[in-house]
Amino acid sequence: MSDSRARPDERPSEGTHQDTDPTERTLEHFGLPAEVFFKAVEQAPVAISITDTRACVQYVNKTFEKVTGFSFDDVKGKNESVLSDRRTPGIVYESLWSALLRSRAWSGRLVNRRSNGERYLAELMVAPVLDASQTAIHYLGMHRDVSEEHTLEQAVLNQRALIDSLLDCAPMWFVALDERANVALGNAPFRHAAKEFCGEHLGRHLASALCGDTTSAYQELREKKAMVPEREIDVALSGDAGNRRIRLAGRWLDENDTSADAFFKSGGQRYFLIFGTDLTSLRKQEEEVRTNAMRALVAEEERAHELHEALEAALFRFQLPINLLSTALRSAERRGGDPLAHRTLVETVREAVKEGHELLERLSESVPETPKARIEAVHVSELINEALRLYTHRLIADDIVIDRAIPESLIVQGDPGRLRALFKELIDNAVEAMGSSAERAILIEARSLNERAYISISDTGPGIPEALQFKVFEPFFSQRGKKRDGAGMGLPRVQSIVLDHSGTVYVDSTYHRGCRITVELPQGDAPQNA
Ligand code: FAD
Repeated sequence: MSDSRARPDERPSEGTHQDTDPTERTLEHFGLPAEVFFKAVEQAPVAISITDTRACVQYVNKTFEKVTGFSFDDVKGKNESVLSDRRTPGIVYESLWSALLRSRAWSGRLVNRRSNGERYLAELMVAPVLDASQTAIHYLGMHRDVSEEHTLEQAVLNQRALIDSLLDCAPMWFVALDERANVALGNAPFRHAAKEFCGEHLGRHLASALCGDTTSAYQELREKKAMVPEREIDVALSGDAGNRRIRLAGRWLDENDTSADAFFKSGGQRYFLIFGTDLTSLRKQEEEVRTNAMRALVAEEERAHELHEALEAALFRFQLPINLLSTALRSAERRGGDPLAHRTLVETVREAVKEGHELLERLSESVPETPKARIEAVHVSELINEALRLYTHRLIADDIVIDRAIPESLIVQGDPGRLRALFKELIDNAVEAMGSSAERAILIEARSLNERAYISISDTGPGIPEALQFKVFEPFFSQRGKKRDGAGMGLPRVQSIVLDHSGTVYVDSTYHRGCRITVELPQGDAPQNA
């Protein structure tokens, strides 16, 4: 697909004049009258001229007159330079004459001018006419007007240059692979990426990503010219380029064979064209939008939950004095005594108790209902990744190392939103707990046993004293004081979510490097459409 041709007028070529024995090749030998030879030259569909050795015209045929517009009388005895447009570089003539002076033929392209002044591109062949002693006695010139051919050639070259620069400017990779998956052509972004590629052969890597890993898979698809479905892959580039997310599309292209052998039969090279769109920044933006939306959702859920808990706690606390008042009222009524002396007090207390009950009722009605759980099969690794994504900046800023050992296939049955909030809460606690610890690492492990999933989150913080390992699940209990909003509600919330999922949560008392909390949940089946 590369064009190695030089400009035609820069490639004059020389040929050796045929060394023939003139004694053998005579008119008589062919048995044709001289007139036939004259007519053949006269009627030949190419412009023919014969000159003396100074290039002065002595004969021109009919096609010469037609092509140049000059009659024989116009050019008779004049140098062939009458045809010159004076644009042809001197070096071309020097080459022409250098060949003729060595009794050699020459061919090349030069710019001629017709009698009406119109320019045309001539493909000229000149050759010496030798006598018996091999001395040039005349020169023979034959030329054709190849202006149209040249225009077409230039149009093709221009189109090629245009396509090349369009492809080079396009913000995508474009590569054409030959039958052995070698790069036949690649645009500038592809060539750049190929240099940075952390592998051997980027073109082949892309082909196997689309067609399958083996060379035979590529050959098979190539033979069938089969459709190749689009797909996205990660390509590792060195340096600043890092990992790139590329969407690949491929299609086959047949190129016509340009050789003479294939003139009457079709066929030729089949190329595999690969288009790669770099989705790295788009995916990054999408990821950020998704993480922000998730962060907002989790915060909203947390707020709703805290409100719910606070209202429940307020109800509980109000209930106590009202109950006390009710008891006091009942005992006062039972004791009897001077009805007049107690009437006002008893009435007032009765009124207060009634109002208190009404208020409690209204308050309990205003406690928002917990939204109905959405139960589905959820991949544990995805849940953990999403929860961790909410912390990316914090983990980097606090220099916390995260280690994960979660089987990709582990699935639990539950409400993804609530489970995400659960793990977010546990990671939150682990991050908070490590505070100023020298070693700052969180290990998240998961395993499956008897159709239950066990997910542990361990940190390298101070840990939870054994005496408090149950107490931490009580509402409003906090080892860190009440600095944070909702402090002391995190683990109770975790417990409530776990219980709603028919699971358990506990602090691992055997772990002494920090704190390890294990959540045990029922395992689920893979979603049908996975
Ligand atoms: P010139 O001064 O004539 O020549 C330029 C250079 O050519 C000189 O520096 C010299 O190195 C060399 N040169 C010229 N004449 C001779 C000579 N007799 N012996 C040795 N070296 C010489 N030219 C065209 O432009 N178009 C044609 O179609 C064409 N057809 C030709 C057909 C034949 C058969 C021959 C023999 C020549 C043809 N020429 C043609 C070449 C032509 O004769 C001129 O050499 C050319 O046009 C340049 O002319 P000029 O006046 O610009 O320069």
